[in-house]
Amino acid sequence: MSRADLARMIADARRIVVFTGAGISTESGIPDFRSPGGVWSRMKPIYFQEFVSSEEKRREAWERAFSGAAGWVGRAPNAGHHAVARLVAQGKASSVITQNVDNLHQASGVPPEKVIELHGNASYAACLECEERHELPELKALYEATGDLPSCRVCGGLVKTAVISFGQAMPPEPMARAEAETLACDLFLVLGSSLVVYPAAGFPILAKRHGARLAIVNREPTDLDPYADLVLHDEIGPVMTAAAPAP
Ligand code: ZN
Repeated sequence: MSRADLARMIADARRIVVFTGAGISTESGIPDFRSPGGVWSRMKPIYFQEFVSSEEKRREAWERAFSGAAGWVGRAPNAGHHAVARLVAQGKASSVITQNVDNLHQASGVPPEKVIELHGNASYAACLECEERHELPELKALYEATGDLPSCRVCGGLVKTAVISFGQAMPPEPMARAEAETLACDLFLVLGSSLVVYPAAGFPILAKRHGARLAIVNREPTDLDPYADLVLHDEIGPVMTAAAPAP
């Protein structure tokens, strides 16, 4: 199977859902948190319950967020993100479901309402009580000036980066939207996900069962390769630039 086969599949599709994981963003220099040397081999995750119950843990979490220690944000989208953005702009792809929290699909020009984030977004914060959005630079400036941990400017509740932490329930809304998009597509295109984290990894199977074709581009083999109509073990940027070239 070749890059040309993927280009043909994309050309033949009427409604593509793109599903992305860490592999698309490693090409932007964002570490894969699961890999050796990844974020969780360097620092211990702070569980949601710890954040909510411990001021000390909240301070640790905010110090990490403000210092960019996890390396999740502040990078630029790469050729893979731009190719995905072209598929959306052309009306080929109806949505992008992502396991990433780095905001790079939005940064590459995909309209935010077309990005379905299964694990949230690390580039801003939200109130845990009223969901009011807060921007990190403002919170950081306030924290540095006062030493006080961020709290909601509307209701005074706890504010946390908008990632879904370990131990935090997956929000139902993105899961429901991802499922509806998956059922409506005729090509499910996986880019840079090892497809091991459930429930997210269930979407390709769901698409396949519903008659869609399944294409997987990932550097390493995935458990779902045997179910796919096309598999490329390759870099995403070059593959997608060839498959969805700039006009
Ligand atoms: Zn609030």
